[in-house]
Amino acid sequence: MVSAESANPNLGIETTNLPRAAWGVLVLGVLISWPLLAMGDKNFPDLHTILDTSVALLAGMLALALWDMGQHIGHPFPKWLATCFAVTFVLTLVHVLVTVEWSGQLSGIAQTRGVLRPATWPPSIHVLSLGFGLSLWRLLRGDAGVLSFSLLMAVLGVGLLALFQLTPTYTAPTLVGVTRPALAAAPLLSGLVAIPAWLMRDRDRLLRPIAWTAAVLCIADLVILYSRAPPDGLAMASHVGRISGFLVLFLSVTQIASRDMLQRIRAEAALAQANADLDRRVLERTTELTAANESLGREMVVRQEAEDKATAQVERLFLLHQITRAIGERQDLNSIFQIVVRSVEAQLPADFACLCLYDDLDRILTVAAVGVESQTLAMGLALPERARVDIDQNGLSRCVRGQLVYEADIAAIDFPFPQRLARGGLGSMVAAPLQIESKVFGVLVVARFRANGFVSGECEFLRQLSEHAALAAHQGQLHGALQDAYDDLRQSQQAILQQERLRALGQMASGIAHDINNALSPVALYTEAMMETETGLSPTGRSQLEVIQRAVEDVTHTIARMKEFYRQRETQLELAPVRLEELVHQVLDLTRARWSDMAVQRGAVIKVQTELRPNAPAILGVESEIREALINLVLNAVDAMPEGGTLALRTRLAGGDANGRGLKTLGIEVADDGVGMDAETHRRCLEPFFTTKGERGTGLGLGMVYGVAQRHGAEMDVRSTPGVGTVVSLAFPVPESPPAASPGGATAAATTARLRLLIVDDDPVLLKALREILEQDGHVVTAANGGRAAIEAFDVGGGRDSYFAAVITDLGMPYVDGRKVAAEIKAMSPTTPVLLLTGWGQGFIAEADMPPHVDQVLSKPPKIREIRAALAQQCMEPSHG
Ligand code: ADP
Ligand code: MG
Repeated sequence: MVSAESANPNLGIETTNLPRAAWGVLVLGVLISWPLLAMGDKNFPDLHTILDTSVALLAGMLALALWDMGQHIGHPFPKWLATCFAVTFVLTLVHVLVTVEWSGQLSGIAQTRGVLRPATWPPSIHVLSLGFGLSLWRLLRGDAGVLSFSLLMAVLGVGLLALFQLTPTYTAPTLVGVTRPALAAAPLLSGLVAIPAWLMRDRDRLLRPIAWTAAVLCIADLVILYSRAPPDGLAMASHVGRISGFLVLFLSVTQIASRDMLQRIRAEAALAQANADLDRRVLERTTELTAANESLGREMVVRQEAEDKATAQVERLFLLHQITRAIGERQDLNSIFQIVVRSVEAQLPADFACLCLYDDLDRILTVAAVGVESQTLAMGLALPERARVDIDQNGLSRCVRGQLVYEADIAAIDFPFPQRLARGGLGSMVAAPLQIESKVFGVLVVARFRANGFVSGECEFLRQLSEHAALAAHQGQLHGALQDAYDDLRQSQQAILQQERLRALGQMASGIAHDINNALSPVALYTEAMMETETGLSPTGRSQLEVIQRAVEDVTHTIARMKEFYRQRETQLELAPVRLEELVHQVLDLTRARWSDMAVQRGAVIKVQTELRPNAPAILGVESEIREALINLVLNAVDAMPEGGTLALRTRLAGGDANGRGLKTLGIEVADDGVGMDAETHRRCLEPFFTTKGERGTGLGLGMVYGVAQRHGAEMDVRSTPGVGTVVSLAFPVPESPPAASPGGATAAATTARLRLLIVDDDPVLLKALREILEQDGHVVTAANGGRAAIEAFDVGGGRDSYFAAVITDLGMPYVDGRKVAAEIKAMSPTTPVLLLTGWGQGFIAEADMPPHVDQVLSKPPKIREIRAALAQQCMEPSHG
């Protein structure tokens, strides 16, 4: 359905008056009609045919032209009109054709002339006016159908044809002289069309010419009402009028068509222009779009770069986090530095990375760590670890003042350090300071082969990393200091602990010594007594007693040393001349069991060699101590030769001038070719308790030898090679003048008078032995088993100073000890001498001086001679006279 407005072909087209030619046609029509009207009664049959034919042709041409127009403008109105003219054409054509004198087969057409000729003209004039009216009505209604209209017109044509068969053609003049009343409706219809067409003329540009045509037709149809024969003048004038009306319409249609054509040409030109404009604008727009696209592309690149930057930043942050965590777990500078350079090298990444420590005084950098991959390059640059770099006026000097330095093109810098890097092919470098409290202590140097190789984000990363590394290093240093302090503390703690242990051990040793001394006392006493009193002893018995006595003495000395090894104290030595070569034989005798029998049992053979200097001088010393020391050395040597070997004991004289005067030493060496000592053992072998022999060893041997050497003023020397053997030598000073013989026996015979003595001890065995010995000397002895008993006995004895000549009391006793006894006795009888017998050694005396109320201290095991001497001294003073 086409809307009335959009379908209106007048839109934008001027609705002109009739074309000039149409006015010409009308004038011409009037001019031609005028004489024809004048000759109304005359017949013009040929002209009639010509005019009928013209009417038919014009109707046909209008049908075609209007259809074509309708086709072109796409509106049904011209097509409806075309249909009206087509039906008119058919009817007028038939009207003409039947007048032709047809021959042959077509001659039958002439037969219909009588019927068709008069009956075809009236329908033709009615159908056109009706068709016009109908078209106008439909135009008003806005109908669209063409086919239905065509069918209606065809039916109308046929119906009118049939209708006019019935009506009479000509009549006698009727109302107002009309001769053809059957056609009376025709001018009426034409007039009825002309008026609305004129009124609606602005609706369609065809309406104005149709109004004119219809008006002309109205006149022509009025004229024909008075015609008396088909070819008479009135009919001809009517025909001319009809032709004029048709021509007016035809010319108008032609004008409209040519205008449309012009319009179209213009439109096409405008279209072409518009097209060109469009092309141009498309081009412009395309250019704009391309430009926009390009700028968008650039923007995208910028954004991508920004995004890449952000990603890189995030990655670096992550790396920083990783490194920080890794170095946070380390305390030592070296591994912190290693982690930093390796991570930077591998993950930043960089072509060269090293970390240097800065020496503030010398203004020198020392390479502390180099990345793994950078090692080769570092060698080439002469920058391996521990290499030193001078700070010249280059970036490094700024860096050690605390600035981060970025050299984008190091080849261009004319200073030794950058030049050195440039020679290694490096193009750009970052140096980041490591500082704590604004003091720079190191520099992180990172370089790449490319010039301009670092972006600002990376510089920032390195700055932060160096801050973290500096903090971690500082922490590491603090940790190290703390560790040292802690170690010191632990050592002193250990030392204190060791002292405590030694103290405890010393106390324990004193206790043991006390017990052993007590146990040995009877042995010593009886042996001495037997050797003195038993005159009938066989030589063998006497020499055996001597061995016992010697062994007891050795034990006594050992016990004394055992107590004393932890007291760094000078011991009062009873020096006597000692002949070392004699000692060598004794030692070999005493140790024979170890180096001969036991070795043989194991299948090992130990050969013994002695190289003794003949006529060697005697030295001054304590024989038992030196013997003990030598035994220890021999046993060590034997221990060192589990597979057998050679044990050598040598003495040699050294020192002195050519005349044999000056300080001389007599050395004694114990050598083996056993396993030897490694450095650690050699360093520690003198330490007490140091042993490599596990359960079998005590670690006291060499320590004791050293003590002996010290006390004798002798030099001790231990030389040992693992797998080769060990030589231990002691060099004793040789006295200038030959030592005098000991005056030991002088007082031995000193006898005292019979005395009444009180002896006190908690050990019954010792008490009994002491009592017997003293009774043998003729004394009257009262024995008290313990301090309380002693005090009671003294009291019973009268408590007077005349009753007991002296009291000999043990020191350590339960409940009431020796001091207490001494004090009580002195309280009862101040003049009675009190002798204190102690197994706690002489150290006790040195430490605490003489206990009050005690006149003399004697050590256990007691010797008869010493007791006699003491009694003689205490009881024979003039006051006791
Ligand atoms: P001990 O004999 O009880 O181990 P010492 O003080 O006598 O204690 O010796 C300490 C350590 O010195 C021995 O355990 C041994 O390792 C080493 N040593 C001593 N003498 C010799 C030696 N002649 N050859 C090899 N090692 C020796
Ligand atoms: Mg030993």
